[in-house]
Amino acid sequence: MAAADRIDGKAFAAGLREKVGEFAVSFEAVSGRKAGLAVVLVGEDPASQVYVRSKGKACAAANMESFEYKLADNTLREDLLALIAQLNADDAVDGILVQLPLPDHLDEQEVIASIDPDKDVDGFHVINAGRLSVGQTGFVPCTPLGCMMLLTDRLGDLSGLEAVVIGRSNIVGKPMAQLLVDANATVTIAHSRTADLQSVVKRADIVVAAVGRPEMIGKDWLKDGATVIDVGINRLPPEPGKEKGRLVGDVDFGGASEVAGAITPVPGGVGPMTIAVLLRNTMVAAHRNAGVALAEGAL
Ligand code: NAD
Repeated sequence: MAAADRIDGKAFAAGLREKVGEFAVSFEAVSGRKAGLAVVLVGEDPASQVYVRSKGKACAAANMESFEYKLADNTLREDLLALIAQLNADDAVDGILVQLPLPDHLDEQEVIASIDPDKDVDGFHVINAGRLSVGQTGFVPCTPLGCMMLLTDRLGDLSGLEAVVIGRSNIVGKPMAQLLVDANATVTIAHSRTADLQSVVKRADIVVAAVGRPEMIGKDWLKDGATVIDVGINRLPPEPGKEKGRLVGDVDFGGASEVAGAITPVPGGVGPMTIAVLLRNTMVAAHRNAGVALAEGAL
């Protein structure tokens, strides 16, 4: 079989960011202000610092305002909740993102619940999870929405296709499965307790892997021509003489490419979509918050 097509998430994300940037210009012209995203980082986690920096840069590149709040590791619960209350009330702030994970003394669920659901551009608030589950307008978590954009771009109508989502987290697996069901796919959610995972995956036309286990899914697992979306980001141990190990997904990219019809690489697949969708969600929030019309599906 011919090698699978490589689904270029990086290029798709660049296109989406550009489109968001154009909407940002027209939004500013109509509303008299820039759309704004507040990013709150508590503590010194190096990976989180990198994410927060790149979110700030991406906002600026898309003609949007970013407000960064870097709080100490030992920030009190009351102080964090007070900051979020202040951001909820601030009309210049359309989206609020609290970078996870939080230090252990802070309760993530409580913090997420304190964000105004209409500014919850990460889509993690229970109100937004509920809206997604009953088909109301809300915010959908960025990574699964980005996966969905890649899938519909590649496959068009997903009606009747067999989809297997591996992983059942609140931020990826569950919302991903919901989006696929809403798109009329027949969906199985597999997880760490699934029996005979390999044969479950084998029947899928669409495989979304969100596990966090390097190259777990081999080519023998896949149906010929399947579309594979690899959400996993795993760093392998460094090779001799190298400081850092390679980044790989949950799928053995080389092997899977011999069988699949199309596959996202890691890096350069789903990863870049997450930030692009965050900007998209913030732009949608800005239009809603300012009462500026945005055609359904325009972004
Ligand atoms: P998580 O740890 O919350 O969930 C992992 C899921 O995998 C769990 O539901 C668990 O049941 C399942 N699982 C674990 N071992 C399994 C096994 N052996 N067989 C089948 N299922 C198994 O992780 P998450 O937050 O959903 O993230 C999953 C992966 O996606 C991680 O590698 C993470 O780094 C990556 N991720 C990437 C992006 C992105 O922007 N590309 C965003 C979020 C997460």
